[in-house]
Amino acid sequence: MKILEVKDLTVYFYTYAGVVKAVEKVSFDLYKGEVLAIVGETGSGKSVTTRAITRLIQPPGRIISGSAIYRRDGEEIDLLKLPEEELRKIRGAEIAYVFQDPSSALDPLYTIGYQIGEAVAAHRGGKIKQYFSEAVDLLRRVLIPDPESRAKSYPHQLSGGMKQRSVISMAISNRPRILIADEPTTAVDVTVQAQILQLFKRLKEEFGMSVIFITHNMGLVAEFADRVAVMYGGKIVEEAPVEELFQNPRHPYTKGLLRAVVNPLNPQGRLEPIPGTIPNLINPPPGCRFHPRCLVAIKGKCEREEPPTVGERHKVACWLYV
Ligand code: SF4
Ligand code: MG
Repeated sequence: MKILEVKDLTVYFYTYAGVVKAVEKVSFDLYKGEVLAIVGETGSGKSVTTRAITRLIQPPGRIISGSAIYRRDGEEIDLLKLPEEELRKIRGAEIAYVFQDPSSALDPLYTIGYQIGEAVAAHRGGKIKQYFSEAVDLLRRVLIPDPESRAKSYPHQLSGGMKQRSVISMAISNRPRILIADEPTTAVDVTVQAQILQLFKRLKEEFGMSVIFITHNMGLVAEFADRVAVMYGGKIVEEAPVEELFQNPRHPYTKGLLRAVVNPLNPQGRLEPIPGTIPNLINPPPGCRFHPRCLVAIKGKCEREEPPTVGERHKVACWLYV
């Protein structure tokens, strides 16, 4: 069952240097209980895409067009058209985010337990204090040792990994249907990365949660994702089940990404830069945005016409497959 259906999402940033076409006509689906990984280089539009789902785009950014249909109990809600007041009830409660830097999500002046209680109270009402034991329970769920005393700690008293897990416990405090994790493991070391990954897996199974997971790390993708969407230059260029993508990548960019990873099953294998630079999205290359870096570009075609997306289970946007 599709829980989220994003169609033709387009987001521009109106800067002094010009209009940055950060995300253009991006479409993808998220199924109930799955983990969808979004991979791509910095600046490919991963964060903007996922933030736009609940309209977390600040000026000079603007959502230009598209829809994000969220399905709840037979209801279909276009999140991009919902009044802000109603969207606020969904954001954080039904669709929750974990961002890259846990410190920025925590207030240094309040204890962890208080802040988790605050997250719960924001959506369920009542006094923050009454949720203290629930906060402790949430910290236990994210495998924080000695949760009673940790709940009374201030953020600076916790390690990076514990802070990140506290942020995750806040994000899951209202049992979201969709958890969006934007490179949640970048700030922490490899052991903690693996633990956070395990935690997501468990939460997904426990709550039937759907997860969108943004990452650079192909090892994490291989281990954790059910499906993968590859972004390049503000567009999704390929989308497939994870085994399929690793065994049979189609888009030349995806192939480049996978070639650059020595061993895709190595959890430390990160994306290596492939030759060339990411496109300038103020003036994106015409035709296929990847053509200046593509070794198999079709002359006279790829630099002129944009390839359509073809395929069902395994989608690709490249002239080689049309
Ligand atoms: Fe390369 Fe052309 Fe395919 Fe783009 S459409 S990836 S330039 S072959
Ligand atoms: Mg980002």
